[in-house]
Amino acid sequence: MHDCIFCKIIKNEIQSNIIYNGKLSIAFEDINPQAPHHIVIIPKRHMVAISEADKNELEEIFSAVDIIAKQLNINDSGFRLVVNQGKDAGQFVPHLHFHLLGGRKLNWPPG
Ligand code: 5GP
Ligand code: ZN
Repeated sequence: MHDCIFCKIIKNEIQSNIIYNGKLSIAFEDINPQAPHHIVIIPKRHMVAISEADKNELEEIFSAVDIIAKQLNINDSGFRLVVNQGKDAGQFVPHLHFHLLGGRKLNWPPG
């Protein structure tokens, strides 16, 4: 999509530290990390909400989460996977994304 930051990251028009590049999804380091490890995983196809993702995209994204968590050594210590969808959740970038956070104790409940 034309003006979407994350679509620009996919097309390499905006620099990012990409740590996973699959057929249907990519993952990169968040520019403003909220934990020692803060990775954003997104479908390559532009979409705003979970309801628009298909089964293959979701399958690849969840498999990417597993691969990345093991790569970062946070699979055993634990991590959190977050989707902010819509205005109540404070979704800032309107391209579906999964935040993978780890490397510190994470408080609950979130704000
Ligand atoms: P949201 O609030 O929409 O769930 O999260 C958007 C996330 O994208 C934020 O954590 C923000 O730091 C991250 N972000 C926004 N713009 C960029 C960018 O240009 N590069 C990277 N790597 N992350 C970004
Ligand atoms: Zn997009």
